[in-house]
Amino acid sequence: MSTHGVVDHDPDCLFCKIVAKKIPSRPVYEDDEFYCFHDIAPWAPVHFLIIPKAHIPSMAHITDAHAGLMGRMMALVPKLAAQEGCNPYPDGGFRLVTNTGVEGGQEVRHLHFHVMGGSRPWLRG
Ligand code: AMP
Ligand code: ZN
Repeated sequence: MSTHGVVDHDPDCLFCKIVAKKIPSRPVYEDDEFYCFHDIAPWAPVHFLIIPKAHIPSMAHITDAHAGLMGRMMALVPKLAAQEGCNPYPDGGFRLVTNTGVEGGQEVRHLHFHVMGGSRPWLRG
């Protein structure tokens, strides 16, 4: 258990398996707290996911205790968007999405930010 009362690793979770390299992925960035990889079914020319390595199921589980972690996660967004080829703001930019729960359209129950960008049109979004 982590100090936040959620399991750090769920052996049945797809993204925990990706963090553990039990399932292959195309890496974008990695540090002690986060793993970032290309979405397997991209909607846009640039489409990658940023996930905490700890198994936090969704944004609905975020509390004040996660403020530092979430701040560091947000700060990765513009840095990695530029690294992966999103065009510069304001004519370029990117879309940041985090689906939460069934009604929020979440399919994988491990917190993730979608970062999408690149020249339009996009497949979706
Ligand atoms: P969500 O619907 O917000 O839960 O998004 C889950 C995302 O994970 C979708 O965009 C999927 O395409 C993506 N995804 C599912 N399996 C994999 C995988 N093995 N590698 C990379 N991305 C994946
Ligand atoms: Zn997980």
